[in-house]
Amino acid sequence: MPDPEFFDQGDLVAVLTTQPLDRLLDYKAPEGGCFRGAFVEVPLGPRKVMGVVWGPGQGDFDRSRIRSVIRVLDVAPMRDEMRTFLGRAADYTLTPMSMMLRLATRAPGLGDPQSMRKVYRLGEGVPDRQTDARRRVLEVLREYGGLSFTLKELAEMAGVTPTVVKGLVKQDVVREEDSPRDLPYPHLDPDLPSKDLSDDQATAAETLRAGLQSQKYGTTLLKGVTGSGKTEVYLEAVAECLRLGKQALVLLPEIALTAEFLTRIEARFGARPAEWHSGVTMTERRRVWRMVGQGDAQVVVGARSSLFLPFRHLGLIIVDEEHDTSYKQEDGVTYNARDMAVLRSAICGARVVLASATPSLESWANADAGKYEKIELTSRFGASVMPEMRAIDMRVESMPASTWISPTLRQAVEDRRAKGEQSLLFINRRGYAPVTICRACGHQIGCDNCDARMVEHRFLKRLMCHQCGETKPMPDACPSCEVEGKLAPVGPGIERLAEEALETFPDANIATLSSDMFGSARALKAKIEEIAEGEADIIIGTQLVAKGHNFPNLTLVGVIDADLGLQGSDLRAAERTFQLMRQVAGRAGRAEKPGQALLQTFQPEHPVIRAILSGDENGFWSAEAAERQAAGVPPYGRMAGIVLSGPDVAAVFDLGNAMARNDGPLRQIGAQVFGPAPAPIARIRGRHRVRLLVKADKGAPIQDAIARWIAPLRLTGDLRLSVDIDPQSF
Ligand code: ADP
Ligand code: ZN
Repeated sequence: MPDPEFFDQGDLVAVLTTQPLDRLLDYKAPEGGCFRGAFVEVPLGPRKVMGVVWGPGQGDFDRSRIRSVIRVLDVAPMRDEMRTFLGRAADYTLTPMSMMLRLATRAPGLGDPQSMRKVYRLGEGVPDRQTDARRRVLEVLREYGGLSFTLKELAEMAGVTPTVVKGLVKQDVVREEDSPRDLPYPHLDPDLPSKDLSDDQATAAETLRAGLQSQKYGTTLLKGVTGSGKTEVYLEAVAECLRLGKQALVLLPEIALTAEFLTRIEARFGARPAEWHSGVTMTERRRVWRMVGQGDAQVVVGARSSLFLPFRHLGLIIVDEEHDTSYKQEDGVTYNARDMAVLRSAICGARVVLASATPSLESWANADAGKYEKIELTSRFGASVMPEMRAIDMRVESMPASTWISPTLRQAVEDRRAKGEQSLLFINRRGYAPVTICRACGHQIGCDNCDARMVEHRFLKRLMCHQCGETKPMPDACPSCEVEGKLAPVGPGIERLAEEALETFPDANIATLSSDMFGSARALKAKIEEIAEGEADIIIGTQLVAKGHNFPNLTLVGVIDADLGLQGSDLRAAERTFQLMRQVAGRAGRAEKPGQALLQTFQPEHPVIRAILSGDENGFWSAEAAERQAAGVPPYGRMAGIVLSGPDVAAVFDLGNAMARNDGPLRQIGAQVFGPAPAPIARIRGRHRVRLLVKADKGAPIQDAIARWIAPLRLTGDLRLSVDIDPQSF
């Protein structure tokens, strides 16, 4: 069936809504007709819901019973490119379209007529004739410069009828736009002077520019140690993108802490970009959404969800720290923002730059296979060098029980303090202690709803479950044997380490940085800025500080437990630990002062620890690649996780077993299914979770097979199924 661009009143249109239905709904186009992609309000039973005109209706019902679209919402129609993107993303992640649409309509107020009024400001056209009334309208607009008015406001201020304004709109003397509160963003100028790039940087920037000029899709892996100047290089790609009149999107992990980054953009382009993340106010979000759609926001710095903004002409997506696990969204729609960035760019002919000091094995393999272009910056910028890395063998350090700062590390911190330099003590664990145990009966306090231990948070004075967020006060008596005063913390979290540091370095200025210790991202950001200015001798931090912050006076990184990530059976554990340790170490010695990283470990001979210390990345990746290849797992094979959950564990397992038995569609493509087995976290919020893992050859159509496999299932009761393509742990 042809897919017309415009539907006249009464034509049948198929509408996609955000309601969890498995199909499009037919409606009649409203008075005035509507464009394909139009945002509309439609009746659904007794309710009104928002939807998008997806194409021509099927008309296989009694036409007379088909209802009309109520109205077309006052925003630009969704572009075809976006519809294609949502469709392909849904196919890739095996997500219902309604859920994909939800990601793309996150703008608050979308569908709220009050917030969707038209506004008017000065346009570029010249009036065909002057009248008094027209002159007054122009005077008002000139007097108020960049401001926009609603029709009513403008007509009243000029003392004219709305028709006068409308007449001027026809000639583009007055411009009609979509939202009342959309103040324009200041212009970002790509031609302001940039830093003098080193030869390596200049070559890299030139390669990226050439890619942009091709105006064709392509992905580049920009690899270089922390501090090698990758950001400066990709900002030149952003500049080229702006020169071509296109929009750029920069994705960052830990977006709420991007103060430093925004300042850098401002320094380079003379103005701040638009931001998109959970910390952005509702009003501002709506502004971003619309300005992006009009092509008026040149650069967006955002979290992974900004991939679903309605860019008008997207030219470039930067995925900074592309290996970061926070790009994987695990709630609701399961997707990896890095992969979606590539998909989105392939559809609209944009370029992608994946920047990292420690790329994911996936990207490394794609570059290796020639699918991605690869640029490498091999040394740190200027005089600064990578920190010296050493292990502290904890088997030979003598220290009291329940302490974690070894004498060697303590001495190193003292040395830095004597020189007036900062040290970072890194521990990747929030809270006071990961386990609370009863010394009378051995009971460990667990979450009532999850298969997880409760973590003591002294700062919050509560026990907290890191899976479901449930908290409760620390009891006086053991919940199991009821003996009082016997509950004791086991193992260190950041708060306990901070306590030890206070005792060990009583006169030092110590700053503790953990995401849950600050009321807001703003407070945390302020703290980080203070530290960057030298406001602390010792910084105690979790993963949060490993990401991209620049502390010029920091010269020592002490990793409290380098072995932490190596436990467990996850095949990605080695990759994760390698990336995290190299990245944390990279925090040391960014300026002219050389840095050092000390890793406390009980297994200094472990191959991963050895690779971290030697910095032999290629050796590490090759070994890792060989192992994954032998096991046939990503990136050399395909995997998907099917998580089944429900309140009744037997029912969940029954379903899993039935699925494993009826694996016809999987066998057809040569895929294997493993499980059901308890999911990595076997119970969350009272729901038991069971996982089936599907493994197939690299080229196998795994989504298609899984779709056919799960299609006949009828989920009864409270059973739920979710698909995770390319799971993070396997
Ligand atoms: P990366 O992104 O690889 O970690 P950055 O781009 O942040 O590296 O650069 C590290 C530091 O070096 C930053 O403080 C940056 O301002 C500085 N820097 C990088 N390139 C240049 C340059 N060409 N001229 C001056 N300073 C630079
Ligand atoms: Zn819980």
